[in-house]
This record gives sequence, C-alpha cells and structure tokens, in this order.
Amino acid sequence: KRVDVPASEHGIDPDLVDERARRVVETLQDAGYEAYIVGGAVRDLILGMRPKDFDVATNATPEQVKSLFRRAFIIGRRFRIVHVVYGRGREHEVIEVSTFRAYMDATAAEQVEGNEKTSKKELADKSLVVDASGRVLRDNVWGPQDQDAARRDFTINAMYYDPRTGVVVDYHGGIKDAKKRVLRMIGVPEVRYREDPVRIVRVVRFAAKLGFEIEPRTREPIQAMADLLANVPQSRLFDEMIKLLQTGHATASLNELRKQGLDRGVFPVLDAVFDEARRHPGRDHFVQLALNDTDRRVGEGKPVAPSFLLACLLWHDVLEHWKRNQAQGEPPFPALQSATDAVFNARIGDISGRGKLAADMREIWTMQPRFERRVGNGPLTLVEQPRFRAGFDFLRLRAQAGELDMELATWWEDFSLADDHERRRLLDEAR
Ligand code: ATP
Ligand code: MG
Repeated sequence: KRVDVPASEHGIDPDLVDERARRVVETLQDAGYEAYIVGGAVRDLILGMRPKDFDVATNATPEQVKSLFRRAFIIGRRFRIVHVVYGRGREHEVIEVSTFRAYMDATAAEQVEGNEKTSKKELADKSLVVDASGRVLRDNVWGPQDQDAARRDFTINAMYYDPRTGVVVDYHGGIKDAKKRVLRMIGVPEVRYREDPVRIVRVVRFAAKLGFEIEPRTREPIQAMADLLANVPQSRLFDEMIKLLQTGHATASLNELRKQGLDRGVFPVLDAVFDEARRHPGRDHFVQLALNDTDRRVGEGKPVAPSFLLACLLWHDVLEHWKRNQAQGEPPFPALQSATDAVFNARIGDISGRGKLAADMREIWTMQPRFERRVGNGPLTLVEQPRFRAGFDFLRLRAQAGELDMELATWWEDFSLADDHERRRLLDEAR
C-alpha cells in the first residue's frame, strides 16, 4: 500500500522546511538509517503552511540517535523519544526524533494488564502495556515504517517526507484527504479511540485548526465514547486542552467541542467557562476578548502563556469565590488569596508544572485590586514587578470588557512608560 509521491505531484515548497530538521534527517541517513520528516509538519507542508515544529521518524533506536548528535536527550517513559537540541536560551530549537514503532492491535498484542498504579518495576521490561479498557499505557516496541504509519491517528498525520529526494511516502491516502480537506481516522475508529481516548479531543482540535470536515465513520463514535476520557490522566488531558485553546482558532475549537457534545464534563476549566456563559448570557464578553486576543497573538507568531489565558477563563469564578469569602467576613486580600487557591484546585488540579502555573495565575489575579489603589508607593512597587506586564494586559482586557473604566488602564499604560518625574506627576494627578 506504500505510495511514493514525487515533488511534482504534492507540490511541497522546500523553502518551508526547517534547516535543522533537514540536518537531523541527513545526519541519520548518512549514518545509514532511514529518516524522514513526519506527522504534523508534513501535513502543514502539503497544505502550504510553515510548520511550527518538526518531528523526525527513523529506524534508528533512541540510543543510536543520541550517539549521532552533540546535544541529544532521551526523554519519556510511556513513549521514549530523543530531543535533538540546537541553539541556546530563547532561540533554542528542539527536533523530536522518534523510532518507528510497531502497530499492535491491543487485542492481538501480548497483553500486560496495567493501570496508572502499576509499579515502575513491574513495567520496567515491558514495552507495550494496555489497561483493562484497552487503553495503551506504554508503547515502545520498534517496528517497520508501514506499521509506524498505521499506529498514527489520522491519514493526514501519517505521511513521511524525505527532504533530500523530495518524495512523500503515503500509506493511507493522506495526500488525497488533505486535498479533500477531511479528517479520517486510520483503521477502525472505535478501536483507535479505545486505545487512546485523547484522540477524541485531537479530532476536535484538528477540525477547528484546519477547518476540515470530520469523515462520518470517524465522527460517529465520538459521543458514545467520550466517557472513556475519564480514564485519561488529568495531566495529559490538560496538555491537550491547552493545545486546543492555543491553535490560533480557540473560538472555532470551543464551537466544535460543543458540536460534538464534549463541552461539559471533559475539561473542568471549560466547565467553568460554559457555566458562566449559560448563567449570564451575553456576559462571556471578557472570555471572548481573551480568546480573540490569544488567537491574534498566535496568528502573529507571538508567544502565548497558558497562565494568562487560564487566568482569564477562570476570572469570574475567582470573583464569585472572592465575593463569597468576603461576605463570610474574610478581609479583602486574604479572601482573594483563598479564592485563587480554591479555583485553581477545583478547575486545574494536579497537573505537571502545577507549581509555576499556579504562581503565575495567582500573581495576575492578586495584582488586580492593587491597580485600583493609586496611592503612596504602591504603584511604584507594582510597576517594577517582573510580572507587571501580564497583570496589566489582564487589566486592559477587563477595561475593554467594560468591567472597569478605560481611564484606569490608560493611566497605567502612561505610568509604566513614564520617567521618574512624570510618574510623580501622574501620581499627584490620580489622587
Ligand atoms: P501540531 O501541529 O498541533 O503539533 P501534530 O500532528 O504535530 O500537530 P503532535 O501532537 O505534535 O501533533 O503529534 C505528532 C504526530 O504524532 C502526529 O502527527 C501523529 O502522527 C502522531 N500522534 C500524536 N498523538 C497521537 C495519538 N494520540 N495517537 C496516534 N498518533 C498520534
Ligand atoms: Mg507537532
């Protein structure tokens, strides 16, 4: 079923290919291995878009890959891959290199029944592990390229591009589906969702991001199987939700979730958003502004911080808790702090990178009342905070949503740009 499609047919523009990714592929090929650019990058190239990151697939094992590069790190346990790193600091770039994996239907595979609590020691020498519901917990069995293609999710995500020859290797009609703009699951959709329920969320994300139709057999089982998402670790689901909100098409993503019946009970953060929208129709203005703002930034290629968007999505929840705590007699500032903790725990919970995320969100929230007190040295201290910019952007969105006077946001903008003398004048004026 392997089809080799030449450049004259698929029309990929070689200038859209990242130099580092090309170098990784060529280094592997020169060492005698098969290597290709794979997955989302090939899909984006076929569609004429510049991919934001590049993955490489090879028949070299992680150890063999690592030995070929100066800075390469084997990462992951559930799914071992190599990160090849170029450059340093903000400019650094990571090319992910994964070894071709065998595809084993979970029912036919040597089954090792595990669950999240199965000990590391029990799992240590097992390469493929599935749980009682058929969900794959670990997937490190190497195999030939055609099987590597078969275990990927959608036909458009399962193509391999050789930048040297310009050939695209396509096993599942990905090029045809890309041209027709359809998302089609490889294999039997029910089986594939069971192996990994996160694919349910991925369908929604790609449909919204690419504006593709979901092919009927791929779409049909989604609602009935959505309950399986309850078995997925919170942390993985959270990562997928962040990707969903940062595709540059956040509103389309939320509409697609609603269309597929996934808007309730899947993501606690989004429950808060949809609850709020239902309770106060027309008042999701602030959230809408935040989503539009994120989409605009992504569109302009600017970085977006999950902490900022999440702080926006949960702000009304925080306000409500804050009000309630104060009504119960807590003084304003402690009441706000306990509100932020309660909301974070209820809506985000135990995810990886939790400490930093919680700290960043709390900072944005607790800065808000401080913006309204323009007396003494308060503003001078506030403006020097490293996270001032995030807090200020948040304030401005609130003003745009009509939550406070635009004059306040303008004043802070002026104040942050002013010199010492001018700042003193602005402080006098505000009094
Ligand atoms: P994006 O541009 O949003 O990063 P992507 O297609 O690159 O999209 P990734 O999550 O980076 O998405 O995954 C890279 C590739 O790995 C996919 O294109 C797909 O081939 C494969 N893949 C990722 N997640 C899954 C999954 N849950 N099941 C099957 N294949 C997957
Ligand atoms: Mg990717």
